[in-house]
Amino acid sequence: MKTFLISGGAGFIGANFTELIINQGHRAVVLDALTYAGHLENLEALSKNSQYKFVKADIRDQKAVAKVLAEEKIDFVVNFAAESHVDRSIENPNIFVETNVMGVANMLSCSLAYYEKMAPAQKSQFRFVQVSTDEVFGSLGDSGYFTEKTPYAPNSPYSASKAAGDFLVRAWFHTYKLPTMTTNCSNNYGPRQFPEKLIPHMLNCALQEKALPVYGNGKNVRDWIYVGDHCRGILRAIEKGNPGETYCFGGNSERDNLMVVKSICAILDKKIPRRNGSRYEDLIQFVEDRKGHDWRYAIDDSKAVRELGFERQYKNFEVGLEATLNWYLENKKWMSDVLGKGKL
Ligand code: NAD
Repeated sequence: MKTFLISGGAGFIGANFTELIINQGHRAVVLDALTYAGHLENLEALSKNSQYKFVKADIRDQKAVAKVLAEEKIDFVVNFAAESHVDRSIENPNIFVETNVMGVANMLSCSLAYYEKMAPAQKSQFRFVQVSTDEVFGSLGDSGYFTEKTPYAPNSPYSASKAAGDFLVRAWFHTYKLPTMTTNCSNNYGPRQFPEKLIPHMLNCALQEKALPVYGNGKNVRDWIYVGDHCRGILRAIEKGNPGETYCFGGNSERDNLMVVKSICAILDKKIPRRNGSRYEDLIQFVEDRKGHDWRYAIDDSKAVRELGFERQYKNFEVGLEATLNWYLENKKWMSDVLGKGKL
């Protein structure tokens, strides 16, 4: 049994990762500041599990992070904590720099101080994993894929702040020999995603018979991966990856935004037909495009497949989407609790 420090574990992907590693017999210490995006409801099922502990703290808090590392005898640090929504970064970039850059610097400094005091046997196994995004690579045209060799070219304040954090991770490996790894993943979908993001947002609007706002002409393309597949990839990187390396994970499921919204509508037409007999698709409204909206992201994850044995359980996006919508429909209390906090 290993002990993981999971920063940002009360958010969407971090909570799914926490559940995964506990199910695998490990111990999870979640450190989270519980911003508007962090919810203890995401970890409720684990609250009585003796292998789980929650610490409310900010990743920028040097004392708090150092204390958790030492007291909990952490084997692996996995940093999910971030400001993660592009639209919010356009409105208020400063908090993105504070958390995604300064916060990462603090996590690295605290981890290094802890690592340097570890016994040699434990030290050789220690890993610091930075969970990053494909958005740091910038935007693709209609063809081509991002790989680990693609130069960083971030375009939004969100992706620029994540890129800066990733460069710090790289520097701590090269300068101080802290055994770090970075993972770059495409768009995640699945249970527990805060309803400001495309899929739960559209579902929420549809259920309330509100307009479904689609940016621009809806043709921007993302590569969608089921969150559980991303989490298993991160665990593979910890188990089999090499310090200093980066690993890309994708879903092999490129869809434009309009296709995603139409798929949600088609599933809802089947499950909960509208009372007035019209289709959910009729609620779609095209709205002014996001500023600097990247055109297309797509990942070639053959390195992760080859070196980590990475594989996806959800090979078909529409199947994963239906499972995801089922989860939200079966967990309406989660949706109302999370939205009820008035943080949207
Ligand atoms: P999220 O917004 O759902 O969760 C972020 C979590 O971090 C929240 O629990 C929040 O409370 C916490 N947090 C924020 N600032 C903090 C701080 N200063 N100190 C401590 N905790 C803080 O994000 P997510 O979608 O789960 O993404 C997790 C990570 O994965 C992020 O780093 C993101 O960049 C990356 N990522 C996300 C996606 C995606 O599609 N969602 C894709 C690739 C990579």
